[in-house]
Amino acid sequence: MIKETEEKSVNVDPLELEKFSQLAHRWWDPNSEFKPLHEINPLRLDYIDRFAGLSGKTVLDVGCGGGILSESMAGRGAHVTGIDLGDKPLKVAKLHLLETGKKVNYRKIAVEDLAREQPHHYDVITCMEMLEHVPSPASIVRACAELAKPGGWIFFSTINRNPKSYLFAIIGAEYVLNLLPRGTHDYAKFIKPSELARMAREAGLNVEDIIGMTYNPITKVYALEADSDVNYIMAYRA
Ligand code: SAH
Repeated sequence: MIKETEEKSVNVDPLELEKFSQLAHRWWDPNSEFKPLHEINPLRLDYIDRFAGLSGKTVLDVGCGGGILSESMAGRGAHVTGIDLGDKPLKVAKLHLLETGKKVNYRKIAVEDLAREQPHHYDVITCMEMLEHVPSPASIVRACAELAKPGGWIFFSTINRNPKSYLFAIIGAEYVLNLLPRGTHDYAKFIKPSELARMAREAGLNVEDIIGMTYNPITKVYALEADSDVNYIMAYRA
């Protein structure tokens, strides 16, 4: 559903929000459905920090969910705002701050609306594992480009679309290894790096890097490496 009125834009699939809401109470359980996010987090955090230097930066985490990445970026000294449209993940994220004492400014607002409120405000923007859950990823990419300061860094991660990613991300992860609940991902919404690059180029962003996120089912180890056939992160500059 993409509805634009003068003040509010709604680029959201309510069924997608519902999926994450139903599991939200288990967000910080490292052995729950969110285990993959916990395991990839140190890898993506180091990757982002290496390019953008998080300490002291003004950072926006789009589709922050329960706050795994947001909190860890705050832990590196960034001033982090986390936004999501799901009530329950945001509630979990806010409650978790009480446990850790970290500071993150969590808000329920669409990224397109925040772009009108705070244009060119952020040094670093992250949008991880979210583009494949929204009706119009291009609209999210455009809004992120508007929110970034000139020269600011933007990181997107999502899932590639090809027979191998179907096999690994859906059959493997959801049916064979049970890493994710069935129905978590919809193959048709996967995004090829070339498609993401095109959305970004049209939003005025420059591609800086791409890296694959792989999972070895034998060793159960995640890694960042050249193979971007399934999961990948792309780094851009405004
Ligand atoms: N980025 C986090 C969470 C990924 S899960 C991480 O990688 O750790 C996907 C998140 O996207 C969920 O929290 C879901 O509520 C959120 N989401 C889905 N559609 C959205 C939309 N249109 N706007 C904002 N958040 C959305």
